[in-house]
Amino acid sequence: MTGKINMTGNSIRSLIEAFIVESPLNTMQTRNSDPAWDQSLVGFASGSDPIWTQYKEYVGPFHWTPWEVFNQNCSDTPANADQLTVISWILPQRQDVRKSNRKSGTYPSEEWARIRVFGEEFNVALRLHVVKTLQESGYAAVAPMLTPNWTIVKSQRFSYASSWSERHAAHAAGLGTFGLCDGLITQKGKAMRTGSVVAKISIPPTQRLYSDHRAWCLFFAEGTCGKCIDRCPARAITEAGHDKEKCRQHLQRSREYVKETYKFEGYGCGLCQVGVPCEAGIPVKAAREAVKTGIKPPPPPPLA
Ligand code: SF4
Ligand code: SF4
Repeated sequence: MTGKINMTGNSIRSLIEAFIVESPLNTMQTRNSDPAWDQSLVGFASGSDPIWTQYKEYVGPFHWTPWEVFNQNCSDTPANADQLTVISWILPQRQDVRKSNRKSGTYPSEEWARIRVFGEEFNVALRLHVVKTLQESGYAAVAPMLTPNWTIVKSQRFSYASSWSERHAAHAAGLGTFGLCDGLITQKGKAMRTGSVVAKISIPPTQRLYSDHRAWCLFFAEGTCGKCIDRCPARAITEAGHDKEKCRQHLQRSREYVKETYKFEGYGCGLCQVGVPCEAGIPVKAAREAVKTGIKPPPPPPLA
């Protein structure tokens, strides 16, 4: 490589979109080769955004800042935090996949389980593709989830957490806020998967059009809904939040079901992500308005 190729936020968006359209890995591996994904949302966050140190306090000290993960893995390219950008994307579930899982009462539909496995394989390939393209263009980059030392850590507050959370990266990059069930509610809803890459590149950050990390969930914003509580077959969601251990055990049980019923090695659930008001969009009207106008709303008054 001889020189740097100029890359912008728009060119990175186009890179991701093109990979979704053109990659043969974008498949559910069904007989008629349905694609796993057909669109994306992309956002950017600065490596020096104070939110990363807040995550250290809220999630745990083990959660990497972008600077930490970059310097562990790209040590031959020194960088300060403010020279780094976190590129985050959302892959919203397609309508027919959501529709199929809406009918499920205990275990996932075949389509949903296929996305959990083959759709995520595509997401891994997308991370690698973004890193490789950035590197070939002259920008050092790393996909935190694919680093050898990414790990799951026991956490007193959350049962367990990880050294890099894709959902937290997406939240930092203006792509959504957390729901009662812990899922990230995005402009295309909560039924989605997400990925990210940290790179030494300067891209203006995406504005976070929310006043707090739960602003797009009806339960926290308006004191209503709670539909995800009833959707969960494992009783892992209550008004107190999401019990990760119960959820994990249910996902484990789904492996046998998927193998016996759909005849492939897979798993999944996501019942709390469909058949709920946040399935495919932002359910809070004021939040939708904020996104439409681009004006960040003030913090909501305390609920009575
Ligand atoms: S179903 Fe309702 S309570 Fe649950 S995350 Fe979505 S908006 Fe929030
Ligand atoms: S993924 Fe399934 S088990 Fe886990 S919280 Fe959602 S509905 Fe419950």
